[in-house]
Amino acid sequence: MSVSTVSTAPAGAPEAADPGPAWAEEVRALARRRDAVVLAHNYQLPEIQDVADHVGDSLALSRIAAESDAETIVFCGVHFMAETAKILAPQKTVLIPDARAGCSLADSITAEQLREWKAEHPGAVVVSYVNTTAAVKAETDVCCTSSNAVEVVASVPREREVLFLPDQFLGAHVRRVLDRADMHVWAGECHVHAGINGRQLADQATAHPDADLFVHPECGCATSALYLAGTGAVPESQVKILSTGGMIDAARATGAKEVLVATEVGMLHQLRRAAPEIEFRAVNDRASCSYMKMITADALLRSVRDGTDEVHVAPELAARGRAAVQRMIEIGNPGSGE
Ligand code: SF4
Repeated sequence: MSVSTVSTAPAGAPEAADPGPAWAEEVRALARRRDAVVLAHNYQLPEIQDVADHVGDSLALSRIAAESDAETIVFCGVHFMAETAKILAPQKTVLIPDARAGCSLADSITAEQLREWKAEHPGAVVVSYVNTTAAVKAETDVCCTSSNAVEVVASVPREREVLFLPDQFLGAHVRRVLDRADMHVWAGECHVHAGINGRQLADQATAHPDADLFVHPECGCATSALYLAGTGAVPESQVKILSTGGMIDAARATGAKEVLVATEVGMLHQLRRAAPEIEFRAVNDRASCSYMKMITADALLRSVRDGTDEVHVAPELAARGRAAVQRMIEIGNPGSGE
């Protein structure tokens, strides 16, 4: 197993006051003038989610970007997500309101590190989670989301080694499910998800014994959630390992009155909208991605007004990355991703 360097989040992300209805109207008018569709990830600030034309997870939004008739895509999310939209919609102008909005998970492996890793394992199949840069996707055989990671790795013949990256928690989940010893997992992590730990989950599960547990597989607590279910501490039927899009579907379907949510806290806004009768509680209410929150009301207004910041992906990289993303879409149910 290789060890990666994980970058830290920017300190003190701005938390703007509610910008109000005049701001929302101006954003919509400027977007119409630019023939732009505004997309917002589930972890965005509530006002950004509310003004967007579509809210969802990274892959769902990239597909909407590719299918949209709009000339311009304004992607309110982090940089690798806007890059993925550009890979799938190369003829469109793709904007991100603040190009500094990175991702500690995507930054945990570079294309050069991946090339070195591949050289150590000639013939191995590279499976990358969608939280990767365009340059890493170009070095990848097949991408995966948290919804189809198990199916993607299961599709690799047993005689081939697998290099799985960059998330160690998702990789551990897949390796455990498939009992696959020839799968090497990169030691990357998201600083937000890694901060949600098993102790917090166990404490919350004890305090709210009737609550469902919705756990994102990138969470440091995914293993704990499965362990709690395995020991009978929490009934197995109450533990659901879900992508962010899967959480919305599960919220609509569950009969539970209370749900504990182990992922970034922005997710609570969409869950409460989808199922207002349910009490949703964050397992860790400080699990907030400061990169996501760099897309402020001011930044979005600037973006639709001035056309900033444009996302570019070199055509040759985009073509190779697109092939890896398209293979992912063909396997199982890719659903959503983060
Ligand atoms: S929550 Fe983690 S994985 Fe998601 S964008 Fe932020 S740093 Fe990246």
